[in-house]
This record gives sequence, structure tokens and C-alpha cells, in this order.
Amino acid sequence: MLVTGALELDRAPAHAGVQSRGGEVRSSGRLGARDHADASPDRHPAPAKSTSAARTVRAAVALLAAALALPAAPATAASGDPPEWTQPRPTLHLLGPITYVGTRGLGAYLIRTSEGAILVDATMAENVSAIERNIRSLKLKLSDVKLILVSHAHFDHVGGLERMRCDTGARVLAGSGDVAALRSGTPPGETSYGVRRFPAVARVSPVADGERVKLGDVTLRAVATPGHTPGCTSWVMRVVDHGRPREVVFAGSMTVAGNRLVGNRRYPAIVRDFRSSFDRIERLRADVVLPMHPDAADVFGRARSGALVAPRLLGDMARAARVDFERTLRQETR
Ligand code: ZN
Repeated sequence: MLVTGALELDRAPAHAGVQSRGGEVRSSGRLGARDHADASPDRHPAPAKSTSAARTVRAAVALLAAALALPAAPATAASGDPPEWTQPRPTLHLLGPITYVGTRGLGAYLIRTSEGAILVDATMAENVSAIERNIRSLKLKLSDVKLILVSHAHFDHVGGLERMRCDTGARVLAGSGDVAALRSGTPPGETSYGVRRFPAVARVSPVADGERVKLGDVTLRAVATPGHTPGCTSWVMRVVDHGRPREVVFAGSMTVAGNRLVGNRRYPAIVRDFRSSFDRIERLRADVVLPMHPDAADVFGRARSGALVAPRLLGDMARAARVDFERTLRQETR
């Protein structure tokens, strides 16, 4: 399907090319301490600490705002959020056409193509100016960004999406399971930390598992990795780096991160989805892992030390996330 003059969305082979070539991710059974510690950074924490009185006040304010048809509260930082989520940092070229343009703690990746640029995630509302500065520092205009790909509909990844969409005029694509959430500004599923809304995204197009998105000379494949959210999507592209083809995976979050696993009425399939995504991610070929929380794969350290190519990393991350998931599920089931 042709989306714009240059941007193509191929809906034909729903599962084509999604599965990895088996056996390329070997089970090492060993994770560095750092990998372990960073395997669950997607904390989404702040409102859990609030008192019930504060919750009541907030609920009343939300109701009042809804009654007055005020815009949704922006996804601004709360006191419990990690400070690095909103700390700007300079751009960092990673490999091929891919440059890191996000903050210290929240991933945003810019992919240059022969016909404009693709942005993967916009992060939080207060980060938009910093990310836009980073994009301009690459000698690009905001209007050069033709496409924004979404990892998943949580405030820390999409709070700035609507503003970024308006500022760039880019088309927004997200996993179909998160599109309703994006359009409403209300995250999908139920969590232990309440509801952290974000500005609704006025125009967003759904992508299905296996769909290919093409802009100029770059093609990305959507790989559905639901669980963390119903539409959580990993985006996969091939990059030729120093003459060698590398499979790059912009990995969707795999952490439980406060999701209610038992009795989640708004996302009843959550447990099944998590498990099938772990199965799938463990088999996915990933020479380079670029997660939406960069510390989950030590992106900056790896880039500095020339260790971005790490074919076992995604499998290790998925196995660690699975262990954490099953432990959390047992605790919730007790
Ligand atoms: Zn999340």
C-alpha cells in the first residue's frame, strides 16, 4: 500500500520474513551484572507512591477536565521518574544511517534515508525541544522527518509524539494494538501505578505484524512483540556497516513495569502475549540491539567501545525479562 509519494507500507505478507534464521542467537546462560541490572529499566513508577487522597483529587481533576473538554494532562515528568529520562544529551552516531537523538534515559533514533528521515519514538513532552535541537544539529529540517515509528503507547515514549508529529508533519505508525490508546491519550491495560495519560495523537496509522515500511532506500519491518503493551512493536532493519550486513532491532520493551498480570480486564491476553513475545524475541536475529531505554543494552557504552554488534544480547535480554516476568506472575498469583 502506498502511503505517501515516497513512503510505502507493504501489507501483503503478514508474517513474511519475521522469524529469525534459527540458531543465530546462542544461549550463553550468562549475563553481565550490568546487563542484568539494566534488563528492567522501564519503570513507569511515579503515581504508585501517591496517597489515596492525592489520587482522589487527581481523579476529580481528571473528571473535571474531561467535563470541560480540556486537553489531556501532558506527559510531563513526575517526581518519581528517573531524572535521566529528561536530561538532554548530544547526538551520537551509532552505525550506518542511524543516529541517537534521544535523552540520556529515553531512546529516540533518527534514520536518514535517501528521501528524508525516520524517527523511532518521540519520548516525553518536555524532551521534544531537545530532540528537535538534536535533529537540526544533523543539518536536517524538522520537515525532513517524514515518518515517526512508535515502540509502544506509554507516556515515557509517546508523551511528545503529538507535538513532534505537528512540528514535523510526519506520518505516525504504531502497532495496531496501541492505536486506540494513542488516539485517546490513555495507555492500554491496567497497571499498579494508575493511569498516566499523554497528549492524544490526532493522526496515527496502524501497522500489523510483519508489515514493511519503506522510505527512500530504507525498509523497516514491524515485529509485533506484545505484552508490555498490546501493540508493543519492535522495528527491524538491515544496515550495511563496514561492508557487512547487520540486522538492527529497535527493541520494544519487555519488562512487566507495573502491568497487572492477573485480572487485567483491559488486557486479558497479557500473560499469553508476554510469553509468546519472549519465545519470538529469543529467536529473532539481532546483530545490534537498540532499545527504547538505552541503558537496557548499554547503548552509549557499546557505541564508545565499538561493541554495538552483539548477536547474543537480545536473546539474553529476553531470557532475563522472562525470568523477571515469571517471578512477578508468581508473586501476583499468591
Ligand atoms: Zn513502557
